[in-house]
Amino acid sequence: MNVKQIYMDANALLEGHFKLSSGNHSEYYLQSAKVLEDPKTANMLATALAKQIKESGLEVDTVCAPALGGLIAGYALAQALDCRYIFAERVDGEMSIRRGFEVHKDEKVLMCEDIITTGGSAMEAARVVELLGGKIVGVAALANRGFCKREHSDIETKSNCKLPQDIPFFALADFIFAMYAPDECPMCKLGSEAIKPGSRGN
Ligand code: ZN
Repeated sequence: MNVKQIYMDANALLEGHFKLSSGNHSEYYLQSAKVLEDPKTANMLATALAKQIKESGLEVDTVCAPALGGLIAGYALAQALDCRYIFAERVDGEMSIRRGFEVHKDEKVLMCEDIITTGGSAMEAARVVELLGGKIVGVAALANRGFCKREHSDIETKSNCKLPQDIPFFALADFIFAMYAPDECPMCKLGSEAIKPGSRGN
């Protein structure tokens, strides 16, 4: 499966001058919502991700996704793994688990995101699951930005990766592109202005 081609066909891999949530600038932006707007594509990607997870022998009771980015990928993955699905959401800046969702003691929870950059949001949500008694057994994402080493890839873990090294990280593809601090951005130097994807209707 050519995941990059699937993203490009869905206009989910944007080219331009973007301001990322980290504050850095990039020529590319991954808009996973676009690739997931077709439920059949979402299902196909989640099925491929679930296949990797099942083949690894990992036991999963529940998939947990941090809202908003991980909601659709997490739901589709739980469906493909035939397991329970819950989500965490930010309230006043703090990740929390609401809506009557319960986490049982030692329940095996797989965290799921659409894209893992450093894994910060996934691990924030994971800590809430652990406080409720759950056990984080792995992390999954459709796409990996290349800071964390996933299963079946030989890229090295970078120092800003926040995922624990003792649990597996599954993703379908690595999307590695250059990022620049705003004052070192070559596109800014050419006078163009970085846009925040989503803020102008894209
Ligand atoms: Zn820039």
